[in-house]
Amino acid sequence: MSRINLKPAATLREPAELVAHGLAALADLPDLEKVAARYAVAVTPDIAALIDPGDPEDPIARQFIPSAEELVAQPGENADPIGDHAHSPVAGIVHRYPDRVLFKLVHVCAVYCRFCFRREMVGPGKATALSPDAYNGALDYIRARSEIWEVILTGGDPLMLSPRRLGEIMADLAAIDHVRIIRIHTRVPVADAACAAMIDAGIPMVSQSVLLRGVNDNVAALEALMRAFVECRIKPYYLHHGDLAPGTAHLRTTLEHGQQLMRDLRGRVSGLCQPDYVLDIPGGYGKAPVGPSYLSQASSLPGEGELDPETRYRVVDYCGDVHLYPPKP
Ligand code: SF4
Repeated sequence: MSRINLKPAATLREPAELVAHGLAALADLPDLEKVAARYAVAVTPDIAALIDPGDPEDPIARQFIPSAEELVAQPGENADPIGDHAHSPVAGIVHRYPDRVLFKLVHVCAVYCRFCFRREMVGPGKATALSPDAYNGALDYIRARSEIWEVILTGGDPLMLSPRRLGEIMADLAAIDHVRIIRIHTRVPVADAACAAMIDAGIPMVSQSVLLRGVNDNVAALEALMRAFVECRIKPYYLHHGDLAPGTAHLRTTLEHGQQLMRDLRGRVSGLCQPDYVLDIPGGYGKAPVGPSYLSQASSLPGEGELDPETRYRVVDYCGDVHLYPPKP
């Protein structure tokens, strides 16, 4: 099969279109049809143009081109891996932490990430957006709770809404006094120019990356990614350990590997470029930082004898060397 990748004129949504553009092998088509019947596929022309069809390990392809491995669910994987349903008091709202809510406006995205933690809630056969009644019910829920300081627009991808509709939603939320922050979770503005325009308009941007096997699970890739964010004025916020979404085991790595990567990253880039490595605890218990710890209690250094009893902390520097720190001020 010749592997050509002409920039498509429109978003590719069918496995046969991926094959026609050299982005998937013809022999894989039957399996990919099965994947696409369950999980949405969308590869925009710009994303397609970034993929090297000659590279079987292409990291962009790994994020967006479906794989037969998605048909295999592992024990522990879950259709609702971070427990949205358990914290959804009304349609469209997830209220997990006291001072903030997720407001899930749409169930469609510009691209469909193969590691998506909401893959069972977006895509084929799902409603595309909240009904007007559900939208009003969600707004009433927010209005009635003065402890809600931050509303996170999510979905799906809220930037799939028209600017007019998004403007109406922002105005509805801005009219609620206790809502002081509106955050938008999106993958739409992936181009630098789009990010710069938003930041220039006064909208701060932060990144939430997912640690993905074969994509960014090496320190050079993570370093380049975090430096690029900061150069684009985007603060690295979270590095997520992969959620237990069905059929995503081939994209997850181990927590131990993630911790080692964070140690290595600490040795290479400043604190400005350090995301928090976090795990969404299955069942809806929220995020926990799972990065390496640099401080521990110990009675001695390796190879040393008795220590001063006042010296009880070991602290590890960015080179991995251990130092002592006294416990009392
Ligand atoms: S909801 Fe987010 S992670 Fe899931 S496919 Fe859409 S953009 Fe990707």
